[in-house]
Amino acid sequence: MQEKIMHPKKERSLVIIKPDGIQRSLIGEIIKRYEQAGFKMVGLKMVMPTEELTEKHYTIDPDWVRKAGEKSIASYDKKGVEPPSRDPLEIGNIVLNNLKKYLTSGPVIAMIWEGNKAVGIIRKITGGTEPLSSDVGTIRGDYTIDSYDIADTDNRPIRNLIHASGTVEEAEAEIKLWFKEEEIFEYRLVQEAILYDVNLDGIMEKS
Ligand code: GDP
Ligand code: MG
Repeated sequence: MQEKIMHPKKERSLVIIKPDGIQRSLIGEIIKRYEQAGFKMVGLKMVMPTEELTEKHYTIDPDWVRKAGEKSIASYDKKGVEPPSRDPLEIGNIVLNNLKKYLTSGPVIAMIWEGNKAVGIIRKITGGTEPLSSDVGTIRGDYTIDSYDIADTDNRPIRNLIHASGTVEEAEAEIKLWFKEEEIFEYRLVQEAILYDVNLDGIMEKS
């Protein structure tokens, strides 16, 4: 039997407004950015994350700790400062421990957004990890000013308002971690006719 291929309009991404986003009163502004781009919200809740949930979330990709360590060492090298260690796993674990403190510091908003190429477009709207170098017009670029050097100097994670899934596979695993099946909604949005219908034949009144 032929496997049914998922329609691209069904792609989903997990977005979390981190504690700094809530404290900055940016919930509505952040939701607006994804909503007005054309994505459909299919899940939403406020959560007080635990350290266990945070660790599970960041280790869904078993290579994340090493990659985070490598990224951090590269940012030390770029500014000509010797990192506390040259072992990517050791540095990655420091980043992970700091993220546990960050995400458990206050409530977060977890949401699932659905639509064509949701993961990639949502990353684009969100902007790069470091707000200092995120493009203008992205959420991180427009609403905050943090940088690797100040965060690393103070031994804390970059405060960049949002988590957004990195790949489709990561998104699927993250959604399972944060949401129960019954907390995810399948419904139709009127605007989907404009975004996805093959023929735009429902607009004009018939004479
Ligand atoms: P994201 O996918 O853009 O959120 O970035 P990553 O998945 O690589 O990292 C997760 C989070 O860890 C980021 O959003 C930052 O809050 C923090 N972080 C990652 N790398 C670094 C780093 O090198 N230094 C600091 N201070 N924080 C980092
Ligand atoms: Mg990531």
